[in-house]
Amino acid sequence: MSAAAQEFLRNAATKSADLVHRQVIRRAIDQYNQVVERRRARFLDWEEARRRCQEIKREAVDHLDRYLLEFEQRVTERGGHIFWAETSAEARRYIADLAVRHGVRTIVKSKSMVAEEIHLTPALENLGMRVYETDLGEFIVQLRDEPPYHIVTPAMHLTRAQVASLFKKKLGNVETDDPQHLVAVARRELRRAFFSAEMGISGANFLVADHGMVAITTNEGNARLGTSLPRIHVAIAGIEKVVPRLQDLALLWPVLATSGTGQPITCYNTLIGGPRKQNEVDGPGEFHVVLLDNGRSELLADVEQREVLHCIRCGACLNACPVFQTVGGHTYGTTYQGPIGGVLTPHLRGLDEFQHLSYASSLCGACTDVCPVKIDLHHHLLHNRRNAVRTAKRPWIERAAFKLWRWVMSNSVSYALFGWIGRAALRAAYAFGLEATPLDPLRPWTKYRPLPRIPAKSFRALWKENHGAE
Ligand code: SF4
Repeated sequence: MSAAAQEFLRNAATKSADLVHRQVIRRAIDQYNQVVERRRARFLDWEEARRRCQEIKREAVDHLDRYLLEFEQRVTERGGHIFWAETSAEARRYIADLAVRHGVRTIVKSKSMVAEEIHLTPALENLGMRVYETDLGEFIVQLRDEPPYHIVTPAMHLTRAQVASLFKKKLGNVETDDPQHLVAVARRELRRAFFSAEMGISGANFLVADHGMVAITTNEGNARLGTSLPRIHVAIAGIEKVVPRLQDLALLWPVLATSGTGQPITCYNTLIGGPRKQNEVDGPGEFHVVLLDNGRSELLADVEQREVLHCIRCGACLNACPVFQTVGGHTYGTTYQGPIGGVLTPHLRGLDEFQHLSYASSLCGACTDVCPVKIDLHHHLLHNRRNAVRTAKRPWIERAAFKLWRWVMSNSVSYALFGWIGRAALRAAYAFGLEATPLDPLRPWTKYRPLPRIPAKSFRALWKENHGAE
């Protein structure tokens, strides 16, 4: 088992037994479900909206080369710079060199999962720069020195009392846990950063090919400030973020807001096309877009799984996932959590190390049902499992168990025989009281739940009784 898998199992056992944590998450997700349900109902036809979003993303991803080049051409025509980063290291180096070259000391950053993916903040801090997360949730988890808990709501696991005590400890001057007061405290701190920063770093929700624009959506306006006040703006995005036309946002923006937070549209939607022009009063003097590959091209070449690149990072699949609700976001130990993380991470960081994430699913399909771009997530989790079995060496005992299972299930005599053996074993376990002892061979299972009761009649016997023949 890989080190990441062992860590996952350890943390999952701890977190799933933490009932306070589960209550906090449950409450947050219940609220989310209520508003999202109402918001989806406001669409004339939500299923049709999903289908059209799927088409837009499919068109973009199937012609990624063309749309990315079109985007690059438009940006450079307006004086912006494009950097194609094949790896995380290349992306980090480009941004760090740029910051050093311009003598940057303070950076304001708006929420970007790609920046998390490449570990950008620690790299810049190692060079002596001060990096401020300006999204409120990100600001909170940065103060706690922990990664985002969820791709849309990074501080979802915290109560406002916890935030108040954190602010009191780190920022001082906190009198109550009233949310408005806490927001005002964060605002005061961040205002200073906005006005002193020489560089603003943002993510991109979409890259609009036909206009060469970066589309950013936030609820706090922090990205708009952070990309217009500092003299340099760097946007970093995965190559899959491109969409063909500006008009595609007319559907993608409300669908993203609905699935992400249950809003009809997010409060601030900003389109950035280049550096400040001569007659403009604000905006950065330099505009850079870093386009990150980092394994995405390989996923693009995989016809069976390339639709994973359609993801618009709304977080809906995380909220719907019973495993995420139980083990929580930090347990995954990865940038992308939940079902999309389970599908994507093995592609970005290696199947050997992260195949366990594809097993962190009940395969109930709730993720697929809610995905606004109709990614068949639970089947992709199955594909990853199949690929893991094909390419990575599984323990001999697991391989032997599955061979035995296949044999038992594929003919009626062995099925009947093993059904009889199973019932006899359960009877023996109950007769000798093994189900409650440390000798119990099913201990990892029975530690948390009782052994199943033995039914009076087998399924075959019941079938025969009701239908007269097997
Ligand atoms: S896979 Fe679908 S539901 Fe999950 S984050 Fe991406 S777009 Fe949202």
